[in-house]
Amino acid sequence: MTDKVAEKFVHLLRERGFEVDYRPGISREGLIRAIKGCNILVFRGRLRIDKEIIEAGSDLVVLARYGIGLDNVDVDLALKKGIAVVNAPNASCISVAELAIGLLISVFRNIYALVDAVKRMEWPKGRFTGRELYGKKLGVIGFGRIGSKVAEYARALGMNVLFHDIRDVSEDARRIGAVQTSLENLLKGSDAVTVHVQLTPLTYHMLNERTLSMIPDNAVIVNTSRGEVIDTKALLNHLDRLGGVALDVLEQEPPKDEIYRKLIGHPKVIVTPHIGAETAEAMDRIADELLQNIMEAIKWL
Ligand code: NAD
Repeated sequence: MTDKVAEKFVHLLRERGFEVDYRPGISREGLIRAIKGCNILVFRGRLRIDKEIIEAGSDLVVLARYGIGLDNVDVDLALKKGIAVVNAPNASCISVAELAIGLLISVFRNIYALVDAVKRMEWPKGRFTGRELYGKKLGVIGFGRIGSKVAEYARALGMNVLFHDIRDVSEDARRIGAVQTSLENLLKGSDAVTVHVQLTPLTYHMLNERTLSMIPDNAVIVNTSRGEVIDTKALLNHLDRLGGVALDVLEQEPPKDEIYRKLIGHPKVIVTPHIGAETAEAMDRIADELLQNIMEAIKWL
């Protein structure tokens, strides 16, 4: 195990007779040295599980992502080598969806700036006028597990929900009361846009100079999906005219390049350090779901 997981997960595996080598934070080089002899690799999004690691792991039978995203894994190569790839796609949906709504409210009510000022012992009453979510149009890009949950919560708050997806999700849409539309209509017609697609070659820089230009002035963008879905450079060009931007994910994590200093330092931007799934409940559910999927994968060995 290369990353921090719920204690319960280590316990459950040991209980079932697995020998667990728990090394949260291990370096890439360390992993390459240690991986031989391991049959199952449990990891999160920190390390790139690429050709070099997969080939060093000549005894691997399962790659197990402690979470959802598999974009840091060379899934094709693993499958070609007969290594099963499993994850826990359902466990953190509620946590991520709640964070997206929380970020939306934070931006609409300027909560970060206000709290920050009060912490400096100022009393900025009257400095910012917030906006309600009620009655506003929320554009949801990607109406999958998380996107549809965000839509559901947004409907409960009285928002009108537009969404864009490439799958037929009409049944969920009807149940929730959300309206499917093209990406262009969504971007042009939303007061806030929230991004929930998985990272694929089609969604890489899906929000770029051209598409960001379609978003009206004063609209808000929330991204809790993957940083690479938004072209950071293009986003910088639009910050001044937007109502605010809240990001739980960045193209570079942790951010180091100068461009992120500009982005993160901008008064209209709030960034959280990829904590969508970091709740006690999600971590606990991941342990159960991932264990079940690992057991399913090794059942046939
Ligand atoms: P999902 O697969 O259930 O849903 C993604 C949806 O996007 C699908 O309905 C799919 O059809 C749609 N989609 C894919 N390509 C598209 C395109 N080009 N145009 C329009 N729609 C497209 O995924 P999910 O479980 O809801 O996860 C959503 C995102 O959240 C993923 O990027 C995942 O990695 C991310 N995530 C982030 C955190 C976090 O900590 N911030 C935690 C978990 C998941």
